[in-house]
Amino acid sequence: MFVIVDALVVDSVPDRLVFLLRNNGVKVNYNPGISREEIIKVLNNYDILVFRSRLKIDKEIIDSSNRLKYLARFGVGLDNVDIEYAMKKGIKIINAPNAPSKSVAQLIISMIFILERKLYKIIDSVKNGEWPKGKIIGNEVDGKTLGIIGFGRIGRVTARYAYQLGMKILANDIIDVNQEVQKYEGKQVSLDYLLQNSDIISLSVPLTPLTYHMINYKTISLIKNDSIIINTSRGEVIDTKALLDSLDKFKGIGLDVLEQEPPKDEIFRKLIKNDKVIVTSHIGSETFEAMDRLTEEFVTNILKEVSSK
Ligand code: NAD
Repeated sequence: MFVIVDALVVDSVPDRLVFLLRNNGVKVNYNPGISREEIIKVLNNYDILVFRSRLKIDKEIIDSSNRLKYLARFGVGLDNVDIEYAMKKGIKIINAPNAPSKSVAQLIISMIFILERKLYKIIDSVKNGEWPKGKIIGNEVDGKTLGIIGFGRIGRVTARYAYQLGMKILANDIIDVNQEVQKYEGKQVSLDYLLQNSDIISLSVPLTPLTYHMINYKTISLIKNDSIIINTSRGEVIDTKALLDSLDKFKGIGLDVLEQEPPKDEIFRKLIKNDKVIVTSHIGSETFEAMDRLTEEFVTNILKEVSSK
């Protein structure tokens, strides 16, 4: 169905997304990087605000328009949106939650291999002209217990891959995911049990008041020595200071997200430079395949919403 609505796109998105929206009757003002102040000035002219994670979509932005009907996040995480307030005002939230799962899960599995085999050290050493044969010995992943905190879309794909690699699966979630975990011969357990019994811990929870700093001094104290922890969810899920103070405990740490992105403060520089820490620049969903799926899913979800009006 052909619809005429006005959309303001405030972050950079693929050209195809703009093309598909325009082709289906959405009048798009593509203005990536537009300032918060400017958005507030012009938002009254639009039905849809399309954004990524750059800006906090808070009361001030939401209240700056009487016309706004949709907040459309190009991506998954909605932690930069005041969802409760938007919903109270009758504004619908649109995102594309399915598209990145495979790519993020593949990054988690890559990090597991890189850390277990200490590939980052070996690659560096060879680049520096050395030949560390016999000097840096790694581990296989078969038989290792992978504890997945947040057994949603990403958690489940990660479990599928890990199970195929011979790993044992534990899951922690606030909803009942037992049936899903049993598909991989795993079980749903308490957070404490998962932390005490996993060789590798992977975080795939959304950022909420409950998950903020869920990995802290107290929970780290439960983690087995010589474990690996991987965070591809949101940086704020881990208390960076607690992690930095507990480095001795871990065999390896893999982070795609940080509490400060890009990292500037000394605490992050220290963490990144540490020998057993690998950090990527929040690229969990940055594959061509995921970006293509994201565009298709996002446009479909927008058009479904606006045509049902
Ligand atoms: P999802 O909603 O499908 O799954 C999240 C799961 O976490 C749900 O099952 C939920 O019940 C569970 N959960 C919520 N609060 C919890 C708590 N306190 N304790 C235990 N479990 C809890 O989301 P998803 O698609 O799997 O994505 C997870 C998160 O990953 C997103 O919210 C986003 O922040 C992040 N993400 C990161 C990237 C990246 O580029 N690194 C890409 C996509 C998503």
